[in-house]
Amino acid sequence: MPHTVTPFPNETLESYTHRLAAVNRIPERHLRTPSRWLRCPLNELDLLALLSGQPRTSLAWAIPELRRYAPGIAPPLKSLGVMTRFACRRCVWQAGGTGSVHVHVRSRYDLVCVRHGIWHSEGVAFVEQQIDLAPIPQVTRAQVLINRLEQRHGERFIAECYRVCERHWSELDRRGLVRNDATALLDRLHTTNPREHKPFGPHHRFRLASRFPQLARFIALVVALSLKLTTNMSREEAGPRILAEFERLFTLDYRPRSITGPWMRTALVHLVVRMAHEAQVLRLSETEAPTPSHSI
Ligand SMILES: [Zn+2]
Repeated sequence: MPHTVTPFPNETLESYTHRLAAVNRIPERHLRTPSRWLRCPLNELDLLALLSGQPRTSLAWAIPELRRYAPGIAPPLKSLGVMTRFACRRCVWQAGGTGSVHVHVRSRYDLVCVRHGIWHSEGVAFVEQQIDLAPIPQVTRAQVLINRLEQRHGERFIAECYRVCERHWSELDRRGLVRNDATALLDRLHTTNPREHKPFGPHHRFRLASRFPQLARFIALVVALSLKLTTNMSREEAGPRILAEFERLFTLDYRPRSITGPWMRTALVHLVVRMAHEAQVLRLSETEAPTPSHSI
């Protein structure tokens, strides 16, 4: 090939093939099966090394799908995530790349490049839609907090905690209970992105980003409470304690009554008890829990 492309760390095979084809202005299928004589003896790694001119080592390290052809160079990953996301546009630019690069997703809660303060994937349909978080650094700090929780308690526990907390927080948001703090952050993004004033549906990327700090604090709270529940908190005192801690850290936009109030309390206690059970299964202990605070 006349032009080469340097692979990006954790890039998907499809993304790399697409970029290599684009820079050489040829259809992608020509890279997969370039000719009859190449089809038979070469595996995907050898073929791509030949076509791109990149060293096998670089390709095997960067592109997880190719590692199975060179286990001596880079250990094959235990499991490849089914989800992919955009790489941070500034990371790509710093690495000398251009255009859209897709990488394997480490986890569902890997949403921000903490090095560049870029919201890189959730709700982003084109790489140009990635959000510069300079006006609201709280979002980047939220990612740092979640990364620390993961380091301390393990990916499996935090992944489950994120899944259930995100669903619960979305429901609180849908019922209009926790919008004020996120709206204040959203307003700061408005001023720097005047062309994107609307629409702001619940899954719009600006709304997802602006409520992320609240969600991270909520996850930290659930982690701390669930670990306490596994050791020195009785089930009887758990309910009032959980609700009191929640009210200490979060100010609701209005006082829920009728159906919403009991639902909120029951669902919250149920969520913490469920995560306490998960912590017991994983043998996590309370000493590992940080103390949540108001700020990130
Ligand atoms: Zn970056």
